[in-house]
Amino acid sequence: MSQGVVTLPLCNSCNRPVKPAERAVHFNCPNCHETVIWRSEKCRKFSRRYKCLNCGFEGP
Ligand SMILES: [Zn+2]
Ligand SMILES: [Zn+2]
Repeated sequence: MSQGVVTLPLCNSCNRPVKPAERAVHFNCPNCHETVIWRSEKCRKFSRRYKCLNCGFEGP
């Protein structure tokens, strides 16, 4: 963990930090509505699947 760096949200598909400059999207899990799913610009583009860590829901 580096110091002085704002914690970035992790993409639910590729598990990489989502940079503020990226045109990423985030939304509540469509199944449990309890967790926020993040998708990076690339994962959106390639329609990678994401998985909700709370309920295990997988979506395109
Ligand atoms: Zn991603
Ligand atoms: Zn969920």
